[in-house]
Amino acid sequence: MSGPERKPDIDTLVRELIDRRSLSTEGYAALIRERSPETACILRAEADRLKERIYGRDVYVRGLIELSNICKNDCLYCGIRRSNASVERYRLSIEEILLSCDTGYELGFRTFVLQGGEDGFFDDDVLCGLIGRIKEKHPDCAVTLSMGERSRESYEKLFKAGTDRYLLRHESADPLHYRKLHPPEMSFENRMECLRILKATGYQTGCGFMVGSPFQTEKELSEDLKFIESFKPDMCGIGPFIPHKATPFAGEKPGSVELTLFLISILRIIHPEMLIPSTTALGTLSPAGREEGIRAGANVVMPNLSPKAVRKKYELYDNKICTGEESAECRGCLERRMESIGHRIVTDRGDIKKR
Ligand code: SF4
Repeated sequence: MSGPERKPDIDTLVRELIDRRSLSTEGYAALIRERSPETACILRAEADRLKERIYGRDVYVRGLIELSNICKNDCLYCGIRRSNASVERYRLSIEEILLSCDTGYELGFRTFVLQGGEDGFFDDDVLCGLIGRIKEKHPDCAVTLSMGERSRESYEKLFKAGTDRYLLRHESADPLHYRKLHPPEMSFENRMECLRILKATGYQTGCGFMVGSPFQTEKELSEDLKFIESFKPDMCGIGPFIPHKATPFAGEKPGSVELTLFLISILRIIHPEMLIPSTTALGTLSPAGREEGIRAGANVVMPNLSPKAVRKKYELYDNKICTGEESAECRGCLERRMESIGHRIVTDRGDIKKR
Protein backbone atom coordinates (compact mmCIF):
# COMPACT_ATOMS: atom_id res chain seq x y z
CA MET A 1 0.00 0.00 0.00
CA SER A 2 1.13 3.56 -0.55
CA GLY A 3 3.83 5.15 1.60
CA PRO A 4 3.98 8.95 1.82
CA GLU A 5 6.87 9.26 -0.66
CA ARG A 6 4.99 7.22 -3.32
CA LYS A 7 1.80 9.30 -3.10
CA PRO A 8 2.60 11.90 -5.76
CA ASP A 9 3.41 9.15 -8.28
CA ILE A 10 0.15 7.37 -7.66
CA ASP A 11 -1.79 10.64 -7.83
CA THR A 12 -0.17 11.30 -11.21
CA LEU A 13 -1.09 7.84 -12.45
CA VAL A 14 -4.69 8.25 -11.31
CA ARG A 15 -4.91 11.61 -13.09
CA GLU A 16 -3.34 10.18 -16.21
CA LEU A 17 -5.72 7.22 -16.28
CA ILE A 18 -8.75 9.47 -15.88
CA ASP A 19 -7.54 11.97 -18.50
CA ARG A 20 -6.13 9.58 -21.12
CA ARG A 21 -8.02 6.31 -20.37
CA SER A 22 -4.69 4.57 -20.68
CA LEU A 23 -1.52 3.85 -18.74
CA SER A 24 1.67 2.03 -19.61
CA THR A 25 1.99 -1.59 -18.48
CA GLU A 26 4.34 -0.37 -15.72
CA GLY A 27 1.84 2.33 -14.79
CA TYR A 28 -0.97 -0.20 -14.32
CA ALA A 29 1.30 -2.50 -12.33
CA ALA A 30 2.30 0.37 -10.01
CA LEU A 31 -1.31 1.52 -9.61
CA ILE A 32 -2.37 -2.01 -8.63
CA ARG A 33 0.61 -2.58 -6.33
CA GLU A 34 0.35 0.76 -4.53
CA ARG A 35 -3.45 1.03 -4.41
CA SER A 36 -5.09 2.38 -1.29
CA PRO A 37 -8.71 2.87 -0.16
CA GLU A 38 -8.37 6.54 -1.22
CA THR A 39 -7.25 5.61 -4.74
CA ALA A 40 -10.09 3.08 -5.00
CA CYS A 41 -12.55 5.77 -3.92
CA ILE A 42 -11.37 8.25 -6.59
CA LEU A 43 -11.48 5.65 -9.35
CA ARG A 44 -14.87 4.36 -8.23
CA ALA A 45 -16.31 7.89 -8.34
CA GLU A 46 -14.99 8.41 -11.87
CA ALA A 47 -16.25 5.00 -13.00
CA ASP A 48 -19.67 5.79 -11.54
CA ARG A 49 -19.77 9.19 -13.27
CA LEU A 50 -18.97 7.62 -16.65
CA LYS A 51 -21.48 4.81 -16.22
CA GLU A 52 -24.22 7.23 -15.11
CA ARG A 53 -23.61 9.39 -18.20
CA ILE A 54 -24.02 6.44 -20.58
CA TYR A 55 -26.35 4.00 -18.83
CA GLY A 56 -27.94 6.07 -16.03
CA ARG A 57 -28.89 3.88 -13.07
CA ASP A 58 -30.04 1.02 -15.29
CA VAL A 59 -28.70 -2.47 -14.73
CA TYR A 60 -29.08 -4.96 -17.57
CA VAL A 61 -30.08 -8.46 -16.72
CA ARG A 62 -29.14 -11.63 -18.61
CA GLY A 63 -30.78 -15.00 -18.16
CA LEU A 64 -28.02 -17.57 -17.91
CA ILE A 65 -28.85 -21.08 -19.11
CA GLU A 66 -26.15 -23.68 -18.47
CA LEU A 67 -26.70 -26.12 -21.33
CA SER A 68 -24.22 -28.83 -20.44
CA ASN A 69 -21.43 -29.55 -17.98
CA ILE A 70 -19.76 -31.99 -20.36
CA CYS A 71 -16.45 -30.61 -21.61
CA LYS A 72 -13.62 -32.03 -23.67
CA ASN A 73 -11.14 -29.61 -22.12
CA ASP A 74 -9.13 -29.84 -18.94
CA CYS A 75 -8.51 -26.26 -17.79
CA LEU A 76 -6.66 -26.54 -14.51
CA TYR A 77 -8.93 -24.15 -12.57
CA CYS A 78 -12.30 -25.51 -13.68
CA GLY A 79 -14.60 -27.72 -11.63
CA ILE A 80 -16.18 -29.36 -14.69
CA ARG A 81 -12.87 -30.16 -16.44
CA ARG A 82 -12.93 -33.52 -18.16
CA SER A 83 -10.67 -35.27 -15.67
CA ASN A 84 -12.93 -34.51 -12.72
CA ALA A 85 -14.61 -37.90 -12.40
CA SER A 86 -16.69 -36.80 -9.41
CA VAL A 87 -18.98 -34.53 -11.46
CA GLU A 88 -22.41 -35.85 -12.31
CA ARG A 89 -22.63 -34.88 -15.97
CA TYR A 90 -25.80 -33.53 -17.59
CA ARG A 91 -26.99 -32.04 -20.84
CA LEU A 92 -30.25 -30.11 -21.16
CA SER A 93 -32.63 -31.17 -23.91
CA ILE A 94 -33.64 -28.66 -26.56
CA GLU A 95 -37.13 -28.57 -25.04
CA GLU A 96 -35.72 -27.85 -21.57
CA ILE A 97 -33.65 -24.98 -22.98
CA LEU A 98 -36.65 -23.50 -24.80
CA LEU A 99 -38.74 -23.81 -21.66
CA SER A 100 -36.07 -21.96 -19.66
CA CYS A 101 -36.21 -19.16 -22.25
CA ASP A 102 -40.01 -19.01 -21.99
CA THR A 103 -39.78 -18.76 -18.20
CA GLY A 104 -37.15 -16.06 -18.55
CA TYR A 105 -39.23 -14.10 -21.03
CA GLU A 106 -42.19 -14.07 -18.60
CA LEU A 107 -39.86 -12.76 -15.91
CA GLY A 108 -38.69 -9.85 -18.08
CA PHE A 109 -35.43 -11.21 -19.50
CA ARG A 110 -34.62 -9.99 -23.00
CA THR A 111 -31.19 -11.62 -23.28
CA PHE A 112 -30.46 -15.31 -22.94
CA VAL A 113 -26.90 -16.43 -22.38
CA LEU A 114 -26.39 -20.04 -23.46
CA GLN A 115 -23.29 -21.28 -21.72
CA GLY A 116 -21.70 -24.70 -21.57
CA GLY A 117 -18.58 -26.77 -21.65
CA GLU A 118 -17.13 -27.71 -25.02
CA ASP A 119 -19.62 -30.53 -25.52
CA GLY A 120 -19.52 -32.08 -29.02
CA PHE A 121 -23.28 -32.66 -28.94
CA PHE A 122 -23.78 -28.93 -29.54
CA ASP A 123 -22.46 -28.91 -33.09
CA ASP A 124 -23.34 -26.17 -35.56
CA ASP A 125 -26.54 -27.84 -36.77
CA VAL A 126 -27.88 -28.34 -33.25
CA LEU A 127 -26.96 -24.83 -32.12
CA CYS A 128 -28.20 -23.10 -35.30
CA GLY A 129 -31.51 -24.96 -34.98
CA LEU A 130 -31.79 -23.98 -31.32
CA ILE A 131 -30.99 -20.33 -31.94
CA GLY A 132 -33.49 -20.21 -34.80
CA ARG A 133 -36.23 -21.53 -32.52
CA ILE A 134 -35.40 -19.08 -29.71
CA LYS A 135 -35.40 -16.16 -32.15
CA GLU A 136 -38.68 -17.31 -33.70
CA LYS A 137 -40.39 -17.47 -30.30
CA HIS A 138 -38.75 -14.35 -28.88
CA PRO A 139 -37.71 -12.07 -31.75
CA ASP A 140 -37.20 -9.13 -29.39
CA CYS A 141 -34.51 -10.97 -27.41
CA ALA A 142 -30.76 -11.14 -27.85
CA VAL A 143 -28.98 -14.48 -27.76
CA THR A 144 -25.47 -14.72 -26.35
CA LEU A 145 -23.38 -17.84 -26.73
CA SER A 146 -20.57 -18.87 -24.42
CA MET A 147 -19.58 -22.22 -25.88
CA GLY A 148 -15.83 -21.97 -26.11
CA GLU A 149 -13.37 -22.16 -28.96
CA ARG A 150 -14.79 -23.08 -32.38
CA SER A 151 -13.72 -22.69 -35.99
CA ARG A 152 -14.17 -19.54 -38.07
CA GLU A 153 -16.83 -21.35 -40.14
CA SER A 154 -18.70 -22.31 -37.02
CA TYR A 155 -18.69 -18.76 -35.63
CA GLU A 156 -19.92 -17.47 -38.98
CA LYS A 157 -22.75 -20.01 -39.17
CA LEU A 158 -23.88 -19.27 -35.62
CA PHE A 159 -23.84 -15.55 -36.35
CA LYS A 160 -25.94 -16.03 -39.48
CA ALA A 161 -28.37 -18.13 -37.44
CA GLY A 162 -29.07 -15.05 -35.31
CA THR A 163 -26.59 -15.13 -32.42
CA ASP A 164 -25.98 -11.56 -31.28
CA ARG A 165 -23.13 -11.88 -28.82
CA TYR A 166 -20.34 -14.25 -27.88
CA LEU A 167 -18.45 -14.52 -24.60
CA LEU A 168 -15.01 -16.11 -24.53
CA ARG A 169 -12.87 -15.26 -21.55
CA HIS A 170 -9.26 -14.84 -22.61
CA GLU A 171 -8.22 -15.76 -19.01
CA SER A 172 -4.76 -14.22 -19.39
CA ALA A 173 -3.22 -11.89 -21.94
CA ASP A 174 0.21 -13.18 -20.96
CA PRO A 175 1.09 -16.31 -22.98
CA LEU A 176 3.26 -17.82 -20.25
CA HIS A 177 0.61 -17.29 -17.62
CA TYR A 178 -2.08 -18.68 -19.93
CA ARG A 179 -0.01 -21.85 -20.32
CA LYS A 180 0.21 -22.30 -16.57
CA LEU A 181 -3.58 -22.30 -16.31
CA HIS A 182 -4.28 -24.66 -19.21
CA PRO A 183 -3.16 -28.09 -20.39
CA PRO A 184 -0.51 -28.22 -23.15
CA GLU A 185 -3.03 -28.99 -25.90
CA MET A 186 -4.76 -25.63 -25.39
CA SER A 187 -3.21 -22.65 -27.11
CA PHE A 188 -3.05 -19.00 -26.14
CA GLU A 189 -2.68 -18.07 -29.81
CA ASN A 190 -5.86 -19.91 -30.76
CA ARG A 191 -7.82 -18.30 -27.91
CA MET A 192 -6.78 -14.83 -29.08
CA GLU A 193 -7.45 -15.73 -32.71
CA CYS A 194 -10.97 -16.86 -31.79
CA LEU A 195 -11.61 -13.49 -30.15
CA ARG A 196 -10.39 -11.64 -33.24
CA ILE A 197 -12.59 -13.78 -35.51
CA LEU A 198 -15.63 -13.23 -33.30
CA LYS A 199 -15.19 -9.47 -33.44
CA ALA A 200 -14.57 -9.46 -37.21
CA THR A 201 -17.65 -11.62 -37.77
CA GLY A 202 -19.82 -8.92 -36.21
CA TYR A 203 -20.65 -10.31 -32.78
CA GLN A 204 -20.81 -8.11 -29.74
CA THR A 205 -17.76 -9.78 -28.27
CA GLY A 206 -16.86 -10.35 -24.65
CA CYS A 207 -13.64 -11.46 -23.01
CA GLY A 208 -12.54 -11.60 -19.38
CA PHE A 209 -10.25 -13.04 -16.78
CA MET A 210 -10.04 -14.26 -13.20
CA VAL A 211 -8.52 -12.01 -10.57
CA GLY A 212 -6.03 -13.74 -8.30
CA SER A 213 -5.60 -16.87 -10.40
CA PRO A 214 -2.50 -18.94 -9.56
CA PHE A 215 0.80 -17.41 -10.76
CA GLN A 216 -0.86 -14.05 -11.50
CA THR A 217 0.91 -10.88 -10.34
CA GLU A 218 0.41 -7.17 -11.09
CA LYS A 219 2.42 -7.73 -14.26
CA GLU A 220 -0.07 -10.20 -15.72
CA LEU A 221 -3.02 -8.07 -14.64
CA SER A 222 -1.51 -5.01 -16.28
CA GLU A 223 -1.17 -6.99 -19.50
CA ASP A 224 -4.86 -7.87 -19.26
CA LEU A 225 -5.67 -4.17 -18.94
CA LYS A 226 -3.47 -3.28 -21.95
CA PHE A 227 -5.24 -6.02 -23.91
CA ILE A 228 -8.66 -4.53 -23.04
CA GLU A 229 -7.37 -1.12 -24.16
CA SER A 230 -6.37 -2.39 -27.58
CA PHE A 231 -9.01 -5.07 -28.23
CA LYS A 232 -11.90 -2.87 -27.06
CA PRO A 233 -14.35 -5.68 -26.34
CA ASP A 234 -18.05 -4.92 -25.99
CA MET A 235 -18.16 -6.88 -22.75
CA CYS A 236 -15.62 -7.84 -20.14
CA GLY A 237 -16.33 -10.18 -17.25
CA ILE A 238 -13.98 -10.45 -14.32
CA GLY A 239 -14.41 -12.25 -11.04
CA PRO A 240 -12.18 -13.37 -8.22
CA PHE A 241 -10.57 -16.77 -8.71
CA ILE A 242 -12.22 -19.36 -6.45
CA PRO A 243 -10.55 -22.75 -6.15
CA HIS A 244 -12.51 -25.95 -6.79
CA LYS A 245 -11.79 -28.90 -4.54
CA ALA A 246 -11.42 -31.43 -7.40
CA THR A 247 -8.85 -29.50 -9.47
CA PRO A 248 -5.05 -29.19 -9.34
CA PHE A 249 -5.58 -25.71 -7.87
CA ALA A 250 -7.65 -26.98 -4.93
CA GLY A 251 -5.15 -25.69 -2.38
CA GLU A 252 -4.68 -22.24 -3.89
CA LYS A 253 -5.88 -19.05 -2.22
CA PRO A 254 -9.01 -17.36 -3.61
CA GLY A 255 -8.66 -14.02 -5.35
CA SER A 256 -9.42 -10.72 -3.67
CA VAL A 257 -12.85 -9.09 -3.84
CA GLU A 258 -11.27 -5.71 -3.12
CA LEU A 259 -8.83 -6.01 -6.05
CA THR A 260 -11.62 -7.22 -8.36
CA LEU A 261 -13.68 -4.12 -7.50
CA PHE A 262 -10.64 -1.89 -8.07
CA LEU A 263 -10.14 -3.45 -11.51
CA ILE A 264 -13.83 -3.07 -12.42
CA SER A 265 -13.47 0.69 -11.86
CA ILE A 266 -10.35 0.76 -14.05
CA LEU A 267 -12.13 -1.21 -16.81
CA ARG A 268 -15.02 1.30 -16.80
CA ILE A 269 -12.55 4.18 -17.11
CA ILE A 270 -10.54 2.54 -19.92
CA HIS A 271 -13.61 1.75 -21.99
CA PRO A 272 -16.63 3.65 -20.59
CA GLU A 273 -19.28 2.03 -22.84
CA MET A 274 -18.29 -1.53 -22.08
CA LEU A 275 -20.86 -3.90 -20.61
CA ILE A 276 -19.38 -5.17 -17.35
CA PRO A 277 -21.10 -7.87 -15.32
CA SER A 278 -21.03 -7.96 -11.56
CA THR A 279 -20.26 -11.65 -11.39
CA THR A 280 -21.63 -14.50 -9.29
CA ALA A 281 -18.06 -15.17 -8.11
CA LEU A 282 -18.10 -11.75 -6.39
CA GLY A 283 -21.36 -12.67 -4.67
CA THR A 284 -19.91 -16.04 -3.68
CA LEU A 285 -16.95 -14.55 -1.82
CA SER A 286 -18.81 -11.62 -0.28
CA PRO A 287 -22.52 -11.39 0.68
CA ALA A 288 -22.92 -7.96 -0.96
CA GLY A 289 -20.31 -8.63 -3.65
CA ARG A 290 -22.64 -8.08 -6.59
CA GLU A 291 -23.90 -4.77 -5.19
CA GLU A 292 -20.31 -3.71 -4.64
CA GLY A 293 -19.49 -4.68 -8.22
CA ILE A 294 -22.24 -2.39 -9.51
CA ARG A 295 -21.06 0.42 -7.24
CA ALA A 296 -17.54 -0.05 -8.59
CA GLY A 297 -18.69 0.44 -12.20
CA ALA A 298 -20.37 -2.76 -13.44
CA ASN A 299 -23.79 -2.55 -15.13
CA VAL A 300 -24.91 -6.13 -15.81
CA VAL A 301 -26.10 -9.03 -13.65
CA MET A 302 -26.58 -12.59 -14.86
CA PRO A 303 -29.00 -14.60 -12.74
CA ASN A 304 -29.44 -18.28 -13.44
CA LEU A 305 -32.35 -19.51 -15.55
CA SER A 306 -31.18 -23.14 -15.73
CA PRO A 307 -33.62 -25.72 -14.35
CA LYS A 308 -33.07 -25.96 -10.59
CA ALA A 309 -32.33 -29.69 -10.82
CA VAL A 310 -29.05 -29.17 -12.69
CA ARG A 311 -27.71 -25.97 -11.11
CA LYS A 312 -25.48 -27.58 -8.50
CA LYS A 313 -23.90 -29.74 -11.20
CA TYR A 314 -22.52 -26.71 -13.04
CA GLU A 315 -20.00 -25.98 -10.32
CA LEU A 316 -17.03 -24.24 -11.90
CA TYR A 317 -15.75 -23.37 -8.42
CA ASP A 318 -16.65 -24.30 -4.83
CA ASN A 319 -19.72 -22.97 -3.01
CA LYS A 320 -21.24 -21.16 -5.98
CA ILE A 321 -24.31 -19.20 -4.85
CA CYS A 322 -27.87 -19.18 -6.25
CA THR A 323 -27.99 -22.88 -7.00
CA GLY A 324 -31.06 -23.57 -4.86
CA GLU A 325 -33.50 -20.85 -5.91
CA GLU A 326 -36.15 -20.77 -8.59
CA SER A 327 -35.53 -18.32 -11.46
CA ALA A 328 -38.25 -15.98 -10.22
CA GLU A 329 -36.66 -15.87 -6.75
CA CYS A 330 -33.26 -15.03 -8.28
CA ARG A 331 -34.72 -12.24 -10.33
CA GLY A 332 -36.66 -10.80 -7.35
CA CYS A 333 -33.64 -11.05 -5.06
CA LEU A 334 -31.40 -9.21 -7.52
CA GLU A 335 -34.06 -6.56 -8.11
CA ARG A 336 -34.15 -5.80 -4.38
CA ARG A 337 -30.37 -5.83 -4.16
CA MET A 338 -30.02 -3.33 -7.01
CA GLU A 339 -32.75 -1.08 -5.58
CA SER A 340 -30.92 -1.02 -2.26
CA ILE A 341 -28.02 0.76 -3.96
CA GLY A 342 -30.12 3.15 -6.06
CA HIS A 343 -30.07 1.13 -9.31
CA ARG A 344 -32.87 -0.65 -11.16
CA ILE A 345 -33.03 -3.75 -13.30
CA VAL A 346 -34.61 -2.96 -16.67
CA THR A 347 -36.49 -5.09 -19.19
CA ASP A 348 -34.25 -4.47 -22.17
CA ARG A 349 -31.95 -6.37 -24.54
CA GLY A 350 -29.17 -4.32 -23.02
CA ASP A 351 -26.98 -3.79 -26.06
CA ILE A 352 -23.79 -1.80 -25.76
CA LYS A 353 -24.34 1.94 -26.27
CA LYS A 354 -21.70 3.05 -28.73
CA ARG A 355 -20.86 6.72 -29.03
S1 SF4 B 1 -13.20 -23.55 -18.34
FE1 SF4 B 1 -14.62 -24.03 -20.00
S2 SF4 B 1 -13.36 -25.05 -21.56
FE2 SF4 B 1 -12.19 -25.12 -19.66
S3 SF4 B 1 -12.72 -27.11 -18.73
FE3 SF4 B 1 -14.14 -25.58 -17.87
S4 SF4 B 1 -15.96 -25.63 -19.16
FE4 SF4 B 1 -14.28 -26.66 -20.27
